[in-house]
Amino acid sequence: MNQYDIVIVGSGLGGLLCGVMLSKEGYNVCILEKNHQLGGCLQTFVREGCIFDTGMHYIGSYEQGQILHRYFKYFGLNGKLNVRKLDEGGFDIINYQGKEYKYAMGYERFITKMIEYFPDEREGIIKYTDKLKEISNNLNLYNLKEIDTYNFIESAYITDSAWGFIRACTSNVTLQNIFAALNALYAGLPGKTPLYLHALINNFFIESSWRFVDGSGQLARLLDESVENAGGKVITRSEVVKFGFENDKLTHVVLNNGEHIYAKYFISDIHPARTFEMCETNLLRKVYRNRINSMPDTMSVFSIYCVLKENSFPYMNYNYYFSTTESVWLADVYSPDKPVQGYMLFTPASSKSGIWADCMTIICYMSWDEVKKWEHTTIEKRGEEYRDFKKRKAEQLLNLAEQCFPNLRSHIKSYYTSTPLTYRDYTATRNGSLYGVMKDCNDPISSYIPPKTKISNLFLTGQNVNLHGILGVTIGSLLTCAELTGLNYLIRKINNA
Ligand SMILES: Cc1cc2nc3c(=O)[nH]c(=O)nc-3n(C[C@H](O)[C@H](O)[C@H](O)COP(=O)(O)OP(=O)(O)OC[C@H]3O[C@@H](n4cnc5c(N)ncnc54)[C@H](O)[C@@H]3O)c2cc1C
Repeated sequence: MNQYDIVIVGSGLGGLLCGVMLSKEGYNVCILEKNHQLGGCLQTFVREGCIFDTGMHYIGSYEQGQILHRYFKYFGLNGKLNVRKLDEGGFDIINYQGKEYKYAMGYERFITKMIEYFPDEREGIIKYTDKLKEISNNLNLYNLKEIDTYNFIESAYITDSAWGFIRACTSNVTLQNIFAALNALYAGLPGKTPLYLHALINNFFIESSWRFVDGSGQLARLLDESVENAGGKVITRSEVVKFGFENDKLTHVVLNNGEHIYAKYFISDIHPARTFEMCETNLLRKVYRNRINSMPDTMSVFSIYCVLKENSFPYMNYNYYFSTTESVWLADVYSPDKPVQGYMLFTPASSKSGIWADCMTIICYMSWDEVKKWEHTTIEKRGEEYRDFKKRKAEQLLNLAEQCFPNLRSHIKSYYTSTPLTYRDYTATRNGSLYGVMKDCNDPISSYIPPKTKISNLFLTGQNVNLHGILGVTIGSLLTCAELTGLNYLIRKINNA
């Protein structure tokens, strides 16, 4: 009989990080992954020699001493990850109403640049950046400070709205939209996105921004190596189809080949609704299940992955955001009946060249409803109508891209596309949602998911616990593991690494 201390379902970032932390603590860990490739959103794929990321395009706060760097030191990643710093003068460029605005790296540069664009708005710019710093400095886990109890839900910042705060900083509509321009990084909605979410993410990237060179898959591979070196196991092509109960106690998981794998504790790195669907037990009351099932998820996306002609298009060491609408909150103005209204575009970093780009990715919103009619199909077998639908969407998006990059098509050798169905089938997020459960400042408690569940030996991790993204998931995995080891104990270990 296969028996472990801990079984982790899913090898996304959260599952792998928990695997490393708990194997380092001496637990006998087994991570089960349904796909042949590890990593969930860290997965990369190769087309015509070009490496494409699927869901981790850039990371922040990775300068020595900054928060992600401090966490990753503990995970043994620093010095091994191949990353490239984005342009300090403009790591993100926002094309708003035909003019380009650069997000410069580091607060001093950021403020100087914004004042250059908006000389009359100094006060609002300072008020805005002070708040980002205040929020990021006050949240203990974002500074690796020890705490007595973790109760984020009591934090003062969760009921404030990002858009409300931005509008209170300045009445200049253009500046308001420039401050809000990275909202695709959290699939933001002006009436819902909490200020803390906006502040943590913008602060994270303003502090410093980086790209993986040759893809984010390297992070999954390094974490896999650490789990195995610490005595743990990572098994791919092993889909968990059921959590098994004996005498009202969770004792094992059942794989799609019928195999039973036993453990004392279980951690699920997949969406809580999917997790609980696999638990046939009275331990989960109907109201609890209903609450989890009714949590709205963030939007999904459509992406074009372009293979570029050799030495034809310059490598851009920044990301490019474009919207045709006055409001940059594109998830809010999105409608399946309207043409594409904006995108994020970038050229992934490759070790082949720092001068020419070998590929390009362009991403825009797409709702599940646009692809729902193909929901019962599987990868590569969705039929001709679906292929035509993707082609039309891609051409629309390329037309829009050519407004900022004239003749872009002449640099493209070939392209591939993905839809919400692709995300659903590769990462098992509900309806291909980008970042899982949506955070809502009007109803913060109902979008809060703690790592503890009503099943005493089942814990949750991943982007639905705490926050999505590389830092959100890292902190979430600390909270999950802390349920077994104690929080301050782990914080001390990370600080002393
Ligand atoms: C398009 C896109 C762009 C993004 N860009 C960025 C970015 O630039 N920077 C950033 O920081 N973050 C970004 N993110 C967010 C970030 O990638 C995610 O928040 C994070 O990687 C999610 O990790 P996770 O642990 O929740 O697991 P996931 O990545 O969701 O992985 C879950 C894993 O569980 C596996 N699984 C599912 N069901 C089962 C089962 N029944 N049995 C076994 N295994 C199963 C899946 O195959 C998958 O491997 C982006 C996300 C997307 C989608």
